[in-house]
Amino acid sequence: MKKADNVLINWTDFPRRAIHLDFHTMPGIYDVGRDFDAAEFAETLSRTGVDYITVFAKCNLGFAYYPTKLGIIHPGLKKDLLGPMVNECHCRKIRVTAYFNAGLDHENALRHREWCKVTKKGEVYDIAKLGTRETNFFRNMCFNTGYRDYLLGMIDEVICSYPVDGIFLDCMVKDFLCYGVECLDVMKKKGWDPHRDEQVLHCSDWVTDAFMADVRRLVAKRIPKSRDFKIHFNGAHYSKQPTHIELEILPTGGWGYDFLSLYIRYARTFGKPYFTMTGRFHGSWGDFGGIRPKASLEFDCYNSIANGGTCSVGDHMHPRGPLDGQVYNMIGDVYSRVRELEPWTFGAQSVAEIAVLDPRFKRFDWSDDRSALQGVARMLVELKYQFNVCDGNGDLSQYRLLVLPDSVPMDEALKRKLSGFLGRGGTILSSGESGLNSAKTGFALKEYCLNYGGADPYNTMFFQAKDEISRDLPKMLTTIYKPGIVMTLRKGAKELARMVQPYFNRASWDWRHDNFYTPPEKDAGRPAIAQCGDKIIHLAFPVFTAYFEQAVTAYKCLVRNCLERLLKNPLIKVENMPSFGQVTLMTKGKQNLVHLLTYMPELRGKTIQIIEEPITVREVNLALRMDGRRIRKVYLAPSRANLDFIEKDGYIRVTVPEVQGYQLVVFE
Ligand SMILES: [Zn+2]
Repeated sequence: MKKADNVLINWTDFPRRAIHLDFHTMPGIYDVGRDFDAAEFAETLSRTGVDYITVFAKCNLGFAYYPTKLGIIHPGLKKDLLGPMVNECHCRKIRVTAYFNAGLDHENALRHREWCKVTKKGEVYDIAKLGTRETNFFRNMCFNTGYRDYLLGMIDEVICSYPVDGIFLDCMVKDFLCYGVECLDVMKKKGWDPHRDEQVLHCSDWVTDAFMADVRRLVAKRIPKSRDFKIHFNGAHYSKQPTHIELEILPTGGWGYDFLSLYIRYARTFGKPYFTMTGRFHGSWGDFGGIRPKASLEFDCYNSIANGGTCSVGDHMHPRGPLDGQVYNMIGDVYSRVRELEPWTFGAQSVAEIAVLDPRFKRFDWSDDRSALQGVARMLVELKYQFNVCDGNGDLSQYRLLVLPDSVPMDEALKRKLSGFLGRGGTILSSGESGLNSAKTGFALKEYCLNYGGADPYNTMFFQAKDEISRDLPKMLTTIYKPGIVMTLRKGAKELARMVQPYFNRASWDWRHDNFYTPPEKDAGRPAIAQCGDKIIHLAFPVFTAYFEQAVTAYKCLVRNCLERLLKNPLIKVENMPSFGQVTLMTKGKQNLVHLLTYMPELRGKTIQIIEEPITVREVNLALRMDGRRIRKVYLAPSRANLDFIEKDGYIRVTVPEVQGYQLVVFE
């Protein structure tokens, strides 16, 4: 797999305002489609400004909503829903993709237990998942059984019977392992050991890949190349998506508000067009009566276009139909604003000068702990840096600085790559165990002038920053809640912060006390942060995981102060923008587009983060590095109101009078 980061993406005719329509219908519902009218359905979508919709051919329950000869029609359904939907949408120039749940099919799981994945315990029903977030996944289908041909048959039936514009296969989750005999046979043939989880995962990956290849072959056989036909395997790695990427991101539906910032910056390195898929629900999928405040939907859509994507909103139609007017009024309002911006935003390309690098992203195991990556993404967004997230496969030459967050393992290939990167003048900020060789006996690159002394023996430490990186830090010791490694300086390294150790470890039980109070005792005799030459800064503790877990403002200031030493003159400088505000840079032709976002998700009550209204910010001072650009005017979009600008110290500087949640500033 070879790819180049920041390659130009071909956006021609890509969907701009999509709907992902769920329609998972329990068998006890007896009046499916009773009030459904396809013309009214398509008219509602057209009024909403929708140009692409994913509708249901086969739902999670395994039921079909068209007169299938191969599948199981929903027992409460009396008419074809799919055909008329496609027809009426096409009449209104709305493209239609057919949804199949691939990983789930409860009806067939009931009738064909031999088509189910067999869990490690030898079960096909994983009852322990009931009532948890994984309720829907308590039995999963194996693509290595008769189910494979069954599903391929249904896909074939749909793409031959209806002029659909694509297929969406859901729940392609390789993480649910299978110990069924067909998969055991694969493992035997491949020499994979079923006693080792990671080798069973290889098998699951292989079986899923083989199925995806079957689907692609089928589509290639049936659909002429000249037709724009989309395929999405939801849950599979971005590198395996044949035509485009859809990022499921429902912030209040389990994904959280930190998901988009990280994953969209990874998605856009694959050279494929992408849209984010949020939801209209207050909570998650299937929340029939739940609707979000409009401002929170606005934020998701603006956030997507600010990062170069287009938009999709998830809904779930009532089994009887029709689409809910309130829901589509809200989506329509948001989409009309998105549409006004499209002359600038659609087809724009992202710009980044920092790469956050973690090769483990290649695996895309949803069970991996992503705290370090989510922490670094959150921090860099708050600091208004322009960055991508990379897995190390692509070309790094466009970046000026790499961040290796907390525990990035260094194999030979990565070592060579980073050595070249440093040789070309790049710089690296790393933390914790990042930069260590695979055996964890020392730092891999000779440019790290540091000795490795093992894991930090203390579970709470403190740091004292030297003057040169002390801006905005408290004038006192700062707690390190999550210590990392012991390191000492070699020739060529310089200390930027000092470690201070506690009297004793926290929670160290001595049969009298659990040492709850552990103040700093003395200098630990080693650095907390070191700079090697002028190219590398290493923090001894996992500052990004710690930021994600503890949100210590001082950690962010510390990282910013270090970054300023490695990356002088960043692309964008902003003043008078709140910490939660986001600033992203895109380009389109001769235009440089700066997106300013000032929404703040607030934790209300116990679990849900709400955005009820945007926050208005005034007099934002914005500076864009010129890089030889010749700017003739700066204006707000879509109003086209001109802004006065000056050129100073290599930057074009403007003051944006007001940002009411979102503002696009165009430098042209
Ligand atoms: Zn299997």
